[in-house]
Amino acid sequence: MRKLSLIIVAILVLALAFIPLFRQQNPVRQQEGGNKNKITIVYDNKALGGFKSSWGFAALVRFKNHTILFDTGGNGEILLSNMRKLGIDPKSIQYIFLSHIHGDHTGGLWAILRENPNVTVFLPDIFPDSFKEKVRSFGAKVVEIDEPEEILEDIYTTGVMFPVGEQALVLKTSKGLVVVTGCSHPGIVRIVERAENITGENAYLVVGGFHLFGAPEKEVRVIAASLKRLGVQKIMPCHCTGGEAERIFAEEFGMGYVECGVGKTVSW
Ligand SMILES: [Zn+2]
Ligand SMILES: [Zn+2]
Repeated sequence: MRKLSLIIVAILVLALAFIPLFRQQNPVRQQEGGNKNKITIVYDNKALGGFKSSWGFAALVRFKNHTILFDTGGNGEILLSNMRKLGIDPKSIQYIFLSHIHGDHTGGLWAILRENPNVTVFLPDIFPDSFKEKVRSFGAKVVEIDEPEEILEDIYTTGVMFPVGEQALVLKTSKGLVVVTGCSHPGIVRIVERAENITGENAYLVVGGFHLFGAPEKEVRVIAASLKRLGVQKIMPCHCTGGEAERIFAEEFGMGYVECGVGKTVSW
């Protein structure tokens, strides 16, 4: 009888000793697992509770040990406040990718450069010289984009597309392409087509503004069908997509639809 209770006590002691080990392992696994590659919305017209929403767009892209801020929203204070709440240190940003010149995508840049000038800024070469000079005056590096190219390992720009002069960011992932857009002034289907032509791979996930405010339902359904034909399985329409178009995309993509808003994350 005494032997049995000794064994039970021994098992209990062992079990208790291992509990902290399991506890410690879990957070590590979450950080290093599938969530390593992800996109977090930091500026959008919509926001989860506790975050600030405002007209504009910015997203933090983490891919292959690179941290890229895609666009900067319209207001630096709002951008920094949202990032702080998400636990994102501006100093962790290595690259800033500006889709196009409109203020709702570039307005927050200066606040970020004040916090962290040690970044490389990829911007369309058609930006005014005064803009490029101002970026350099903070000590940041400017890379001017014209044609499609691989800017970092497995990370591409579509090159500058018109109207407006906009570039989109393309990640070559194991699931297919992840395409991030600012406003999609050149048209979301054209952008995804070009991303596929550059890389020779199918699109998987599209995130960003699709610029479909007030577009008729029929047009949005045709766009959804075209994106599906291009291989898109997951879609996160943000910013200037418009509520009605978002509703239609949700219907068309079902489980593949991810609602956008500050504080939301999408991974693959
Ligand atoms: Zn916009
Ligand atoms: Zn725009």
